[in-house]
This record gives sequence, structure tokens and C-alpha cells, in this order.
Amino acid sequence: MAAPDAEAGVVILGSGLGGYTLAREFRKLDRDTPITIITADGGEAYSKPMLSNAFAQGKDAQTLALKTAAQVAVELCITVLARHRAVRLDRNAKQLVVRQPDGGETQIAYGTLVLALGADPRPYNVEGNDTVRVHSVNDLDDYAAWRDGLAPGGRVLLIGAGLIGSEFANDLAGAGYAVTVVDPAPWPLGRLLPEELGRELAQALTGLGVTLHLGRSIALLAPGGAVLDDGTAIAFDRALSAIGLLPRVSLAAEAGLVVDKGIVVDRLLRSSDPDVFALGDCAQTEAGPLPYVLPLMSQARALAATLTGTPTMLKLPAMPVAVKTPALPMAICPPPPGAMGAWVVTGSNKDRKALFTTADGTALGFALSGTMVAERQALAKEMPALLE
Ligand SMILES: Cc1cc2nc3c(=O)[nH]c(=O)nc-3n(C[C@H](O)[C@H](O)[C@H](O)COP(=O)(O)OP(=O)(O)OC[C@H]3O[C@@H](n4cnc5c(N)ncnc54)[C@H](O)[C@@H]3O)c2cc1C
Repeated sequence: MAAPDAEAGVVILGSGLGGYTLAREFRKLDRDTPITIITADGGEAYSKPMLSNAFAQGKDAQTLALKTAAQVAVELCITVLARHRAVRLDRNAKQLVVRQPDGGETQIAYGTLVLALGADPRPYNVEGNDTVRVHSVNDLDDYAAWRDGLAPGGRVLLIGAGLIGSEFANDLAGAGYAVTVVDPAPWPLGRLLPEELGRELAQALTGLGVTLHLGRSIALLAPGGAVLDDGTAIAFDRALSAIGLLPRVSLAAEAGLVVDKGIVVDRLLRSSDPDVFALGDCAQTEAGPLPYVLPLMSQARALAATLTGTPTMLKLPAMPVAVKTPALPMAICPPPPGAMGAWVVTGSNKDRKALFTTADGTALGFALSGTMVAERQALAKEMPALLE
């Protein structure tokens, strides 16, 4: 594969972990090719996973920002255009139309384009939600808006008890907020955990003072109050939705790139246009969308090698995710989507090991809680690779 067009260089859309890790890995291999990062946010370097355990550590958006956009630009010898939003991709002209902070538009040419656009919070639609601001926290700006004005000890209505919802519940309860969680699933992390571990997590969160309404949905939202589908009334000061993310595909789709759940890429992270690549939460590899940090790091390393002249196929071993619920630490390595099998659970109380096992006894995924979490690296080596 040819090295990128040196004049127009590499343009990366997005300054999240995907965009910045790629730029960092690229610079380890090539100091000269111009790199421009265009980003709709402030361009601060930060660790997004910290957003769901920052309250208990007393961190605000400013202290979560590890570096400013200007600092990253100097360190990596790149250009960072913060608060610039790409609004259109013209693949024939190899140009982006970009909205500048003053509202004006400009065109930016690329030799190679990398989409590291992340994902949008799934919209929460319920009767009355136009009367209440339902927050979601997916970047530093969101976090600042969420923290701002949240009075100490306030009542938080948390919608969703998945991975991120459970982490927020633990974090906010640990920081002294009165947290009420609503989720239609019968236990937290309903799609990732077998019942035994889910119920232990529910108990651990309840032990922190979290009120759980599981197997329930919100029927009506109104300022300061919600009514559940069983008629239960919940009073709250602020509402936070954590019901999942949708890969940002619209820019790519409007430009005619192949998209499915995410922007479809091959093992070289190349989209249906050979000059356009994608990684991170917006991308869909052969292993599906993988909205976690470890897959993104592997993608960034492989793509940096490819873009600097060494075509490198993406390989992904099984990658467990640590759940940041100190009330009950957990590690999860989900089975591949659609895998046939059943959970086999051993251990007792908080310390449990669940193996997702096929009829012939092959383990395809696992979930660990409490002291069993120590086994996660060893177990991960026994699991099938996500991409060999
Ligand atoms: C609260 C929370 C906790 C998490 N905890 C964990 C964890 O413990 N472990 C784990 O593995 N994963 C965790 N994740 C997931 C992980 O953080 C993400 O997979 C990862 O950070 C995604 O990085 P990204 O660069 O793909 O996307 P993002 O960080 O979302 O970056 C997208 C970038 O694209 C920019 N952008 C979007 N549209 C445009 C546009 N049109 N023009 C220009 N720029 C644009 C945005 O401004 C942003 O800079 C967590 C996620 C959340 C929300």
C-alpha cells in the first residue's frame, strides 16, 4: 500500500482515544507526514472510562483533561483543529467541508482520511421527556454539563443498569448522591451477566444505598418526577440516561460509504473507499462494533503500521472488560454475538466464576466477580480470539 499523499497528509476526524492513539502510534513510525486532527469537541486528551468513576474521586471536567489540544499538537507535531465539525465528505474531491467555531465553513483536503468519530448516546424516548433535561455523559462537555449544578447529596434518576449505568450508579452513590436506577432487565448488566452474578451486583449496589427498580420501565417523565409502568412514583433532581451508544455513521453514509451498525471496515481498517479508514466506536470490523478501549488500541497500532507503508491485518485476542463497580469488582469477556451455549457458574456469594460454555464443553466467554477477577488474564488466554 502506498504511503499517504505527503502534501494533503493524513486527516483524522475525532480526538478521542481512537484519533489520538492513532496519531501517537503513527508518529512512532513516521515523524514527517502532516497529520491534521479535526474535532468537534475541545480536543483535550482524556481517558473516557474515567467519566464513570470520577465523582467518587472528586474530579471535574477540568481535572479529567490530561492535556489541552495545543499541548497534544506540540507533543505529536500535528495540527489539531478543535471545535471544528466535519459536516460533509466529498470523496471525489478528497475534501471535507468543515464548520468552524464562528459558524463559517471551510474545505480541508486529505490524502488519507481516518474516521474516529465515536458514537452517540442512544436517544431516550418516553412520554414527557421533552419536559425534562435527560443528560447523558459521553464526553468531557457532557460531564461538565452533568456535574454543573448537581447539588451535593441530590437525587439522581439513572435510566439503564448496563455496564456504564451500573458504573455511574456505584460512582454517584459512593459520592453521596441518592441514586434510583430503572431498567427493564431483571438484573444489572442483564445482557452480559448470568443471573447469579447479576443478583450479586444488584445486592452490592443496594448495599451502597442505590434503589433499584429492575424489570420496570418509565411510563412518564415530568419535571422532578417519574412514574414507572407499575405506577411507582420516583422523585428526582436530575436524570441521567445510560442506555447505550450508536456508532456515528451519518457522515460516512451520506458520502456513500458502506455502513451497517458501524462504518464497515476490513482487516486493514479500510472502509469501502480505499482512501478512507475508520477505527474505534464508529467502526465495525469483522468482529462487529467493539466499543471498548483495548480493541481500539490494537486497531490504532495496526492502522498506524498500515498507513506508514506496512499493511497490517488487525488481530484481536479475547479482551476482557473490567467493570468499574468497586462495590463488587467484575471482569467480563462476552461470548461472540449469537454464540450458542449456556452459563456454568461456580463459586458463592460475591466470588463467582461464570463460563459461557457450548454443548461440547468449550468456553466461549466468561464473567468473574469479587476475588475471582484475579483469574481474568489467565482465562482470557483460553478464550477464542475475536479476530485471528
Ligand atoms: C462513561 C464511559 C465509561 C467507559 N468505560 C470504559 C471502560 O472502563 N473500559 C473500556 O474498555 N471502555 C470503556 N468505555 C468505552 C471507551 O471509552 C470508548 O470505546 C472509547 O473511548 C471510544 O473512543 P473513540 O475515539 O472511538 O470515540 P470518542 O472518544 O467518542 O471520540 C469521538 C471524537 O469524534 C469527534 N467527532 C464526532 N463527530 C465529529 C464531526 N462530525 N466532526 C469532527 N469531529 C467529530 C468527537 O468530538 C470526539 O473527539 C466507556 C465509555 C463511556 C462513555
